[in-house]
Amino acid sequence: MARLRPIRPDDADELHALFHRAGPASVYQRFFREKDDLTPEELEYFSNVDYQRRMAFVALHEDDIIGVGRYDLLDDEPAMAEVAFLVADAQQGRGIGTQLLERLTDYARLRGITAFRAYVLADNHAMLRVFRNSGFSLTRDDVAAGVYTVEFPTEASPEARRAEWEREKRAVAASLMPIFYPHAVAVIGASRDPQSIGGRLFANLLSGNFTGPLYPVNPSADVVHSVKAYTSIGDVPGPVDLAFIVVPAPLVTKVVEECAEKGVKGLVVITAGFSETGDAGGVAEADLLEAVRAAGMRMVGPNCMGVLNTDPAVSLDGQFGPIFPPRGNVAMSSQSGALGIAILDYARQLNIGISTFVSVGNKADISGNDLLLYWEDDPATDVILLYLESFGNPRRFARIARRIGKRKPIVAVKSGRTGAGARAAVSHTGSLASTDVAVDALFHQAGVIRTETLEELFDVAALLANQPVPEGRRVAVLTNAGGPGILAADALEANGLEVPELSADLRERLAAGLPAEASTRNPVDMIASAGAEHYRACLDALMESDEVDAVIVIHIPAAPAGSDQIAAAIREEAERHRGGKTMLAVFMKAEGAPTELAGDVVRVPTYLFPEPAAMALAGAARYGEWRRRSEGEVAAFAGVAIETARLVVEEAIERLGDEGGWLEPREVETVLGSYGIGLARAGVAASAAEAASIARDIDGPVVVKVISPSAVHKSDLGGVELDVEGRREAAAAFERVTSVVDDAEGALVQEFVPGGHEVILGMTEDPSFGPLLAFGLGGVFVELIGDVAFRIHPLTDVDAADMIGEVRSARLLEGYRGAEPGDIPALIEAMQRMSQLVDELPEIVEMDLNPVKVLAPGRGVKVVDARIRVRPVEGPFVPSRKDVPSTARRRI
Ligand code: ADP
Ligand code: MG
Repeated sequence: MARLRPIRPDDADELHALFHRAGPASVYQRFFREKDDLTPEELEYFSNVDYQRRMAFVALHEDDIIGVGRYDLLDDEPAMAEVAFLVADAQQGRGIGTQLLERLTDYARLRGITAFRAYVLADNHAMLRVFRNSGFSLTRDDVAAGVYTVEFPTEASPEARRAEWEREKRAVAASLMPIFYPHAVAVIGASRDPQSIGGRLFANLLSGNFTGPLYPVNPSADVVHSVKAYTSIGDVPGPVDLAFIVVPAPLVTKVVEECAEKGVKGLVVITAGFSETGDAGGVAEADLLEAVRAAGMRMVGPNCMGVLNTDPAVSLDGQFGPIFPPRGNVAMSSQSGALGIAILDYARQLNIGISTFVSVGNKADISGNDLLLYWEDDPATDVILLYLESFGNPRRFARIARRIGKRKPIVAVKSGRTGAGARAAVSHTGSLASTDVAVDALFHQAGVIRTETLEELFDVAALLANQPVPEGRRVAVLTNAGGPGILAADALEANGLEVPELSADLRERLAAGLPAEASTRNPVDMIASAGAEHYRACLDALMESDEVDAVIVIHIPAAPAGSDQIAAAIREEAERHRGGKTMLAVFMKAEGAPTELAGDVVRVPTYLFPEPAAMALAGAARYGEWRRRSEGEVAAFAGVAIETARLVVEEAIERLGDEGGWLEPREVETVLGSYGIGLARAGVAASAAEAASIARDIDGPVVVKVISPSAVHKSDLGGVELDVEGRREAAAAFERVTSVVDDAEGALVQEFVPGGHEVILGMTEDPSFGPLLAFGLGGVFVELIGDVAFRIHPLTDVDAADMIGEVRSARLLEGYRGAEPGDIPALIEAMQRMSQLVDELPEIVEMDLNPVKVLAPGRGVKVVDARIRVRPVEGPFVPSRKDVPSTARRRI
């Protein structure tokens, strides 16, 4: 485990030490000559960078610098920087150079550096391998005097990204192996008291038949549960790779250090009393994490319930609850410990088998994202369940979930749906976007099935763990009672599924074995006399037809006998048609599902009522659609004047100061114009005479709008006059609109754009999710009925089209009921251009294009009102602009 961070001036001494840790060969390869030492001037130069033209990252192990990677912008070639690396001899071949290169490229790209060059001695195979493994497309000049010139773009190619993510996945999954597949386990704080947590945990591991040796560590007991105990982990005779820690909070960090001594690789810290208790606990947790990371260990918790793995190869029951669930293909992580116990109990009741379960606690080290990476390739896991209270890194979650979702469904309950994020925002977009909207957008884009409740989580899980994902939305309902059939059909339609009428042929086949009173429309009501044979024949017909994608079989036990035979018939049909359509059962019986429905080959998920069955099926069907659709592409439009836009934004920030603020109309125009987002022609007038002259230039009807810091909604105050004709009228309108407020700075005289549909495009920055993009129809739709769609940046073409599809009122754009149709392709393009703008100018934190006029097909779109708010971007990797000479900025 190594850590990476930007270099600091006080790294000089450590850098000096690194120079000496690198052997003479490494030094020669770095400097192309023999070199005994670094001079104080060189050290000063190497440890001080300007974080723009010159940048360096260091890799640390404990407190030692074990590697450094840097770039220097070349003077004579704009946007090209030279890179160089030095890694301590003992640490070479471990991927440190690759990691440093990755950080440097990401950093350089954001600073506008488009390419890297490196000079590499022909025999420096290690360095050449770093470049090759990186996945960047290299051009390698012929070797000249034994030196290769390697050049590559900082723009990550899809291959480079894939290579990076593959490395991430493999490294994370490997680091979690000691937690899921330990060879030997110690429980530090194993107690003889069967009621205590340490006692219960140890007893579970023991009775769970963990396949390796199990060592209780307890300084005040010789024996715990008939097993010889040890005073400290250091006294344990054999090797230990996983330790559970159940000692009082103040002792935890010391115990972790002892574990490090012993060579333990994985930790599960059950002990509570850390960041969940407040600031002091937070400090203790940071110390704990430091100790864990310094030793290269991985840790679940603290403040968690434990982990379990039902694989008979380990049979690890490492949690202190009373239930060890049956083995199965569902993996789960829970952010709440107590809930975890209830969850395991409920899963067992529903016949849901568990592969691995992790109570993640405070997630100080191992996060939900790490677990996803482990489960991605875990052959024992087909479905992933998450109970989330917070996201550590939502952007990483989105990227990982999107990829995993293509193979394995992820179902999540995120608590905290209410309580819209209180955020001071003036614009529509800002006030509409609550944190929950961001979570919804994130899940939607990443294909995560979100449920409202834990009960629904398991209802969906029971379906996905046992049945194929439906291939479409068409559902047949087969029932022996009319009422529940109708309820099912209503619930299906309410959830966006279809209950289509069946063809004459199919109806004939269904009717063949049924009494005359039965109904063969959909729902197919076999009436109360239906027995196992009727269920069998009808299911056969429905499962073989190509008119539906899923079947819900309902049974109300009208007669005292026969339910079990019917359940068996349903299961047999499911087995016969295995892998075809999705089948669910509803057994309206207080004692729950008959065991006949859970065979060894196939399980038919069974619900007590039609509604949860419909909800689960709808979730699975939406997931299926997400999985089948293409992801689309994030566009990068050519001809974008990024430098012009960047300059405007940086100058505005200089004027506005650290808090940032709103751009002026002319700045807004330049920024949007640079990105090819069409604006109505306009000029800024400081006087009535100027207004008249701009109106003459525009040569047509104009709109006159007051410019004032206080007028947020100009038209509400009478600060907008539309369809003004002629110079004299424009001058008069100027006088009127500038008199409605005290702080008028002039007026915008803008081309009048008649007709078209008004839509809103917006963007707001969520502190943890990043930029959120919004689309809705102008006028009352957005505000009054909240008919608005949100997505997380970046937006693909598919996402943009999907947003338009999601907004119900947007059907007007398609010419609904005689409305004028709009230029939808141009609208999609404008949304993608906005996404690119947001990507390349992270200083933009809020944007409201309201309205954008969508003109007739082929006529494009035109923005008639726009507001953009900017703020200086700062963070650990982006130093304050004040520290950087402005020449450097311009240059890049
Ligand atoms: P505000 O949002 O501050 O009230 P706008 O500039 O959005 O001010 O103008 C209010 C309304 O006037 C718009 O929603 C739009 O309907 C109409 N409007 C504004 N500018 C134009 C224009 N150039 N052409 C046609 N209609 C416009
Ligand atoms: Mg407006």
